[in-house]
Formats: sequence, C-alpha cells, structure tokens
Amino acid sequence: MMIEVHRLTKQYGDFRALDTVDLSIRKGEFVTLLGPSGSGKSTLLNLISGMTSPTSGRVVINGVDATDMPTNKRGLGMVFQNYALMPHMTVFENIAFPLQVRGMKKAEIETRVAEVLKLIQLENVANRRPRALSGGQQQRISLARCIVYNPSIILMDEPLGALDKKLREDMQLEIKRLHAELGVTMLYVTHDQDEALTMSDRIVLMRNGRIEQQGSPETLYFKP
Ligand code: ADP
Ligand code: ADP
Repeated sequence: MMIEVHRLTKQYGDFRALDTVDLSIRKGEFVTLLGPSGSGKSTLLNLISGMTSPTSGRVVINGVDATDMPTNKRGLGMVFQNYALMPHMTVFENIAFPLQVRGMKKAEIETRVAEVLKLIQLENVANRRPRALSGGQQQRISLARCIVYNPSIILMDEPLGALDKKLREDMQLEIKRLHAELGVTMLYVTHDQDEALTMSDRIVLMRNGRIEQQGSPETLYFKP
C-alpha cells in the first residue's frame, strides 16, 4: 500500500473534524475524496501531507510510519486551488525551484524543467511571470512544479476550483493523462460529483468527518 491511514482522528476543541477514519490507497490508484463542504476532506488530506497533526491515529506512507514526519520528508507532491506560485519568479524559475532546493546541478535542472514544460505544453511561456498568464496556465505551472521532482504520490485539494467550466473539463483530462503517463498515486479532493465520476478509480464519499461509502464510480450509490 502506498498510503495507509489507521483510525485517524482530528479534534478541534470539542468538534471532531475527522472521526476514526481508516483508508488504504494502492500504488498508482486515483482516489478522490468527495463530499459536501465541511465533511473533512481537506482535514484528511492535510493529515496525510503532514500540514496538520492528528489528535490520534496513524499515517503510513510506503510502509513507513509517517505520523510524526515533517511534510517535506513524506515524498509527496501537492497542488492547491490558489496555485501558490511565486510572483517574482518566471515560469521556468518557479518550476526549477523545487530542484534547486534539492541541490540538483544547473544543467540537470535545465534539462528536467524543459522536459516538464514540454509535457505540460507550456514551452512558449517559460520566461514569463505567472500573473501575465491565464488561470488555466497558472494551474498547469503548479502541476509542472509538482511533478518536476517525480513524487510517487500527488495530493490535490480542489485544484480546479478557481477555473471556469470549459477549462475545468480540459484540465480534468490533462490531469488524467498525466496520471496515466506518470503512473503516480493520486489523492484528489473535490466537492464536484461529476468531476469525481470522470476522474477517479475509486471515490471515497465523506460526511461529518467519516467515510460514508467508497467504491468505483460504477458501483457507488448516490442518494438522490
Ligand atoms: P472540507 O474540506 O470537506 O470542506 P474541512 O476538512 O476543511 O472540510 O473541515 C472539516 C470541518 O473542520 C469544518 O467544519 C471546518 O470548519 C472544521 N475545521 C477545519 N479546520 C479547522 C480549524 N483549524 N479549527 C477549527 N475547525 C476547523
Ligand atoms: P476548504 O473548505 O477549502 O477546506 P476552509 O475554508 O474550510 O477550506 O478552511 C481554510 C482554512 O481555515 C484551513 O486552514 C482551516 O484549517 C481553517 N479553518 C476552517 N474552519 C475553521 C474554524 N472553524 N476555525 C478555525 N479555522 C478554521
């Protein structure tokens, strides 16, 4: 298993945002957390990434207990709704940044960033700054920055939430294509049922901090 979550609970005062959740995710699987706002999707994702620490329970990543591991030691890539790009850096520099942090040599960085720019079809904007680009382009850059160092797991929290419908549908296909091409394990958060049905191998339906049901898009039962 790539990710194993054991009896994971997150309490804010008297309020249980996540309640004794168990979840296992296989290598290469595309799993989507679906549910209404406030159901605990981001909380579960943030506990897996290490941005939040649990009240109780364990997170195991690639066979290693990661419950007390800092985020940057967990081997994850993350993509957020608000892109989180650095405005003073060019597209190239934004994507190169995670490699520089890891101490990769300049020539290797150039080769690798060029590869990823090609994969994501953004070669022609490499020297521009993010704010000069459309929302869809900015989200592709944050995708590129995430995949550039070959994470084995990618976490995405409502990555397409800020985009209009047409662009969202294009990006859904792009993310699916990347998932297939990279063979990466994907944990994806959305409150959009159609998006979950389009993209996922498995949908985990959340409500009130618990998993209500889970299964492939074909087998899941949605209450009318
Ligand atoms: P979702 O991602 O499904 O919208 P969240 O995981 O963000 O839900 O939130 C689950 C519940 O936990 C919500 O009711 C939210 O208000 C609450 N919550 C999240 N973070 C905090 C926090 N830092 N302090 C108090 N309550 C929080
Ligand atoms: P999302 O719905 O996209 O998950 P939220 O708006 O629920 O995001 O939460 C955004 C931030 O605010 C998170 O860092 C979360 O931990 C915090 N937060 C959410 N609800 C509360 C709350 N009731 N009290 C304090 N912080 C909260």
